[in-house]
Amino acid sequence: MRITCVGGGPAGLYFAVLAKLADPAHEVTVLERNPRGVTYGWGVVFWDDLLDDLFSYDPVSARQIWDAACQWDEYEVRATGKSVTHLAGYGFSLGRHKLLSILEARALSLGVDVRWSASEADISGADLIVAADGAGSAVRSLDAGHFGTSVAYGGNKYIWLGTSHVFRTFTFGFERTHAGWIWFHAYPFDSSTSTFIVECTPATWAGLELDRLDAAAGCARLETIFAAHLDGQRLVDHRADSGGTGWMNFRRVTNERWDNGNVVLMGDAAHTTHFAIGSGTKLAMQDAMALADALAAGGELAPALEKYEHRRRAALAPLQRAALASSEWFERMPDYAALPSIRFSYALSDRRGEYPLWRYLLHRATQQAVPRALLRWALSARRWTRARRRPGVAPTAPAARAAPLPTGG
Ligand SMILES: Cc1cc2nc3c(=O)[nH]c(=O)nc-3n(C[C@H](O)[C@H](O)[C@H](O)COP(=O)(O)OP(=O)(O)OC[C@H]3O[C@@H](n4cnc5c(N)ncnc54)[C@H](O)[C@@H]3O)c2cc1C
Repeated sequence: MRITCVGGGPAGLYFAVLAKLADPAHEVTVLERNPRGVTYGWGVVFWDDLLDDLFSYDPVSARQIWDAACQWDEYEVRATGKSVTHLAGYGFSLGRHKLLSILEARALSLGVDVRWSASEADISGADLIVAADGAGSAVRSLDAGHFGTSVAYGGNKYIWLGTSHVFRTFTFGFERTHAGWIWFHAYPFDSSTSTFIVECTPATWAGLELDRLDAAAGCARLETIFAAHLDGQRLVDHRADSGGTGWMNFRRVTNERWDNGNVVLMGDAAHTTHFAIGSGTKLAMQDAMALADALAAGGELAPALEKYEHRRRAALAPLQRAALASSEWFERMPDYAALPSIRFSYALSDRRGEYPLWRYLLHRATQQAVPRALLRWALSARRWTRARRRPGVAPTAPAARAAPLPTGG
């Protein structure tokens, strides 16, 4: 089968890898618009569920992802005028650039023809065209009416920045300014860099003149606002070189249909998921797994594409509800600002408002050093148990990269 993936992001590259693994005789091409090594964004987060899937579909790239990933051990919540609080949980993070370089190398080693600085203009002649060209998919736009594409814009403004300040763990920081609240979602993703996503309402954005400042001046203003969190380090906007800024409103993309003849949508081209739950990359890669499974069964293309869509829609639904509730919470964030610190961070963690009472009691208790250390220990044990089930993995390795437990409460 001749397969062309338009877009060399996580969806397109990972599907190319899985297609080649399923049948080395497939002729698989990836067309990526950008030059090699150029991408957007900084680090992304993920959890054990994705790692389990990656190890079961391709242990070779999974091990490289595992080895390169950074681990964080809890969430820290900071807000002007409130004491620092903590939320239980752990996860992993990895630079998007690093993830793509692992997937590219794996695809090339399997014989995938990866072409950079290429576009969707070269797709004729393929038996299957995978539109993995992101939220603004040009392939999808060629037939937007058929796909029934809808794009809804989130109310808040956000920008995806990086910083050389290495945060200890996943950190939410809320600052009160003369123009209203503005906050960041930050986490380390290698030994020298953290992701730093800034978000605020449009009124605060305009009140801080972020709508008028260029990338350099905008970053300078944010460095001043968030100085207490950055330890003197700079914020970097990738868009500075192109003369623009990275400020956006989140695009929530949905499609009524995901296929059209031999064209199928995958990843952000099919569905986007708000960054507040950090799952878009995971979902894009799990789409690739589902399509690979559907095709591996053999037979006609149309039922295989239908099976893929059906499986993925079912898996996505709860996460998309969570993402929507999460993004709406952040749009209402100023309404929660008057809450005392423990209730504020609990409201942040229970953004869907569905937690039972015991979760609040646990949250209160674990603001104290000893219960917090015990819970972290229990979660580390769970992480270790899951890691040792994965083939060829030394479960202790990531522990060496774990953030140290602070001595304070
Ligand atoms: C601020 C922010 C933070 C995020 N954080 C996380 C996170 O922590 N964890 C997580 O899992 N997800 C996160 N995401 C979501 C994640 O980035 C996306 O969901 C994921 O990248 C989707 O993968 P994809 O392969 O479908 O699309 P993309 O990663 O967008 O890849 C599409 C590729 O197609 C290329 N392309 C575009 N048009 C063409 C064309 N016409 N021809 C050829 N190539 C083309 C692009 O250059 C790009 O390389 C975040 C998103 C945002 C905005």
